[in-house]
Amino acid sequence: MRVLIKNCNLISMSENRKKYEENIDLLIEDKQITRIDKGIEEKVDKVIDATGKIIMPGLINTHSHISMSIFRETVDGYKTQDWLKEKIWPMEDKLQEEDIYWATLLSCIEMIKTGTTTINDMYFMTDKIIEAALETGIRLQTTRTLMGYEEKDDQRLKELEELIEKYNQDTISFNVGIHGLYTSNEQYVKKCIEFAENKNLPIHMHFCENEQEREDIKRDYNVKTPVEVILRDFKCTHNILAHSVKLDEQDIKVLSKTNSYISHCPVSNLKLGCGIAKIKEMLENGLCVSLGTDGQGSGSNLDMFETMKFTALLQKGVNENPELLPAYEILKMATINGAKALKLDKEIGSIEIGKKADIIMINVNNILTQPINNVFAEIVYNVKGTDVEMTMINGKIIMKNKELEGIKETQICEKCNQIIQRISK
Ligand SMILES: [Zn+2]
Repeated sequence: MRVLIKNCNLISMSENRKKYEENIDLLIEDKQITRIDKGIEEKVDKVIDATGKIIMPGLINTHSHISMSIFRETVDGYKTQDWLKEKIWPMEDKLQEEDIYWATLLSCIEMIKTGTTTINDMYFMTDKIIEAALETGIRLQTTRTLMGYEEKDDQRLKELEELIEKYNQDTISFNVGIHGLYTSNEQYVKKCIEFAENKNLPIHMHFCENEQEREDIKRDYNVKTPVEVILRDFKCTHNILAHSVKLDEQDIKVLSKTNSYISHCPVSNLKLGCGIAKIKEMLENGLCVSLGTDGQGSGSNLDMFETMKFTALLQKGVNENPELLPAYEILKMATINGAKALKLDKEIGSIEIGKKADIIMINVNNILTQPINNVFAEIVYNVKGTDVEMTMINGKIIMKNKELEGIKETQICEKCNQIIQRISK
């Protein structure tokens, strides 16, 4: 399949191109971007007219639990631990494989409709998550959530190994998802690290989300700060650390010496009353910061445009400095930095010749967005996920004119409503 996208207003996020270019054509052959030029005349199977629209790389969400779509708005008024114990865990105990499939399908469609083309997920019954991802075409990095204290918990690592053997291909990649240092003992965490080193896979882990977690780790691992554990045990692995809210300036300095990548989830952190991550200090110390929504249970939705806006506003606000984090830096967090975090930056994260065609088209021709004075700021502060009109993943047009072919949204919503009614009894 050869696709030509004509007349793009292009934000490629490539270091080798201008930040913004007009009247650019993109040629996509099979899965790859093969030409970026003005006035491309080629015989193709399909032409997309992007006149007046913005073309940019698909957004990359580096931390979520997409099967938790069914738990939207169950957290209001709860502390994290109470919410988990009283609401989520009893319902999760009743989840069946088929439920995971429908809940994930809903999230995949939500992401495609709001411009996210890659998701880093952490949950269980991963077979069903992969099934829904393959059906919709979204790019998925996944795991079997790992937590353990005893010998019998090694079974979870075996499950992950089987998943990798069965599904590792093209749009499906894997990492080693350790739920957190506070939900496993030291011995089990070391087994997971060894597994990641042997398989050369990134580690994905919740880290220092709230004060309680920080205190638990200090006690259980006998350290002065959780960062000591990263420095000591995770020194040879590529680490995607979700949240990282409760870090002081010294922690950040030390963490920047390790191969760690931050997944910042501001909406979830605010809703759970966890605090605000020190993003300014992380960037000053050279840490790579990407963005995540967390699951809808705590993050409400998977709209990465909302996450970009929260990220920028929070840092300017808490630091009382409007010069911080120009909009283009925020776009980097949602695209190329996400690709770096997932170790997929050779394939995705920017529009460049040879990279996979994960591309979105945004319509900004409406009363809420016109006139455009600063295109980067417009996207970060004013565009909503629902302004995305076309989503292409791996060279395939997954959504056009805001519609996904062959997907029955009403049926999926009905199924998810039935599930939550059943398991909340
Ligand atoms: Zn999470």
